[in-house]
Formats: sequence, C-alpha cells, structure tokens
Amino acid sequence: MLLDGMTGLILGIANQRSLAYAIAQATSAAGAKLIATYQNERLRRNVEPLAATLNNPLVLQCDVASDEQILRLFASIRENTDRLDFVVHAIAYALRDDLEGEYVDTSREGFRVAHDVSAYSLTVLARHAAPLMTGTEEVPRGGSIVTLTYLGGQRVIPHYNVMGVAKAALESSVRYLAYDLGKKNIRVNAIAAGPVRTLAAAGISRFSWMLHHQEAYSPLGRNIEPEEVGAATVFLVSHMARSITGQILHVDCGYHIMGT
Ligand code: NAP
Repeated sequence: MLLDGMTGLILGIANQRSLAYAIAQATSAAGAKLIATYQNERLRRNVEPLAATLNNPLVLQCDVASDEQILRLFASIRENTDRLDFVVHAIAYALRDDLEGEYVDTSREGFRVAHDVSAYSLTVLARHAAPLMTGTEEVPRGGSIVTLTYLGGQRVIPHYNVMGVAKAALESSVRYLAYDLGKKNIRVNAIAAGPVRTLAAAGISRFSWMLHHQEAYSPLGRNIEPEEVGAATVFLVSHMARSITGQILHVDCGYHIMGT
C-alpha cells in the first residue's frame, strides 16, 4: 500500500475509459483517499457510479476554464480535509476543427481555448493546491503533482496540431512549476502516455493510425494499457519517487526513442 494515508485530487474523469479513471483505480488500490472532479452536470451521471467503485471518494464539480469554479473547488476541499498529498491533472481540450487539417489554420480562439484548458489549468491548480501540501513550519510536508502529456508536444504528429503546441506549453509549465514549488518539497512531473482510445482521443482525426504506428514501431511492439499509466502515477506520487521532479516520463512502450 504505497499510498496509505495519502489524499489525492484527480481531475479529468469523463467515463470508464478515461486515463484519470485508470489512475483513480490504481491510486485508490494503493491506499489513497481520493477527491474526484467532473466538468459539468452532464458528466456527473458518468462519474458518480465510477467513483462508487473506488474507496468512497469525495466527488466535486470543476470546470477548469472558470477561476470561480476553481476557488469553489478548493473551498469545498478545505471543508473536508486540511491536506492534499497529490494532484493528478488529466485534462485537455481543443476545438474539434483544430484537430483536423493543418496547424497553420488554427484560429486565435482555438489557440486560446486549447492553451487555457490544457496548459494554464495546471498552473492555477498547482497554485491553489500548494498551501494544502506545504504543512507547517514545525511539520513541513510536501506533495506531488502529475499531469498527462503526449509525444505530440515534442514532435510533429500529423493532426495533433494545436494540442501539440498546448502540450509543449504544459511540459514547459511542469519545469517552471517544479522550480517554483521545489522549495516547498512539491514535485511536479508529467507522464507522456502512448495513444489510448478515450473520449478525448476520439476527437483527433487519424487516431487509429497513431495506434497502429505505435504498435508496429515501438520496441515492445504493442500499445499501452491504461492501467500502466495508473501504475506509473502511483510510483510518481509515492515516496519512491521523492527525488524526481520536472520530469517527462514516457509510458509508451518505448515508442519515443524510435526514428520511424
Ligand atoms: P478523456 O477521458 O476524454 O479525459 C479528458 C478530460 O478532460 C475529460 O474528463 C474532459 O471532460 C476534461 N475536460 C475538458 N475540458 C475541461 C474543462 N474545461 N474543465 C474540466 N475538465 C475538462 O480523455 P483522456 O485521453 O483520458 O485524457 C486525459 C489526459 O490524457 C489529457 O490531458 C490527454 O491529452 C492526455 N493523453 C491522452 C492520451 C490518449 O491517447 N488518450 C495520450 C497521451 C495523453 P469533458 O469530457 O467534459 O470534455
């Protein structure tokens, strides 16, 4: 039970295929008490029954595009606990039109929305979570923040387009946040997951090509399972990873090392 006694906040469960759900299952099985969020009332119907399969988590609403909702989220968290040990940010959004065709055609609004929801949200959440992780002068603690990224933030993956540019901003935010929050013993890392069929992935045109390419060319010759992202998250938020921060950990069967 690597996470026994820990409390974690997980954002981004949309349905049973969500990587956030696999992470919630893994961290819950490792002993963590969870707080899970859903974006809007429509998703509450999906998330509540999934949450019921976990270790009795608190389920709260938060659209990360709204500062007011983020403030409300942390006020509710503070009513229920005085500490957070980890935060998992598994949220991304881009306009559907911007995930087809060419990056050069991205609209100003499409660029703004993708960066606001997929990258800036990590920064604002880290700012609010940090005081709940810090502890006191007598008993300093610390914590761990994990976000999810994709290779398209580092290399050109056709059709990933503005989401790749937003992931580059997210990965850079990981490094700057790791520097800022390191003095409070808060670690910030990202998992670069290989492609997995989820709701968000369904919006990316030629996603099946990404799956086939990864299976054909990764050293391990297969695609990843969501549970493997869950296992890597358990490691990253646990004491085992206590000296790891500012890192992008590829959980992709080694696909990122290939030149094909
Ligand atoms: P998912 O199940 O669709 O999860 C994406 C989540 O982001 C959904 O819960 C979605 O809610 C939420 N979201 C979007 N806009 C939001 C907002 N304004 N406020 C709060 N939540 C919002 O898909 P997923 O693949 O598991 O994605 C999770 C993370 O993994 C993303 O960062 C994604 O880029 C990353 N990732 C995915 C893959 C992959 O192949 N699937 C690979 C590497 C990295 P709605 O459904 O309501 O929009």
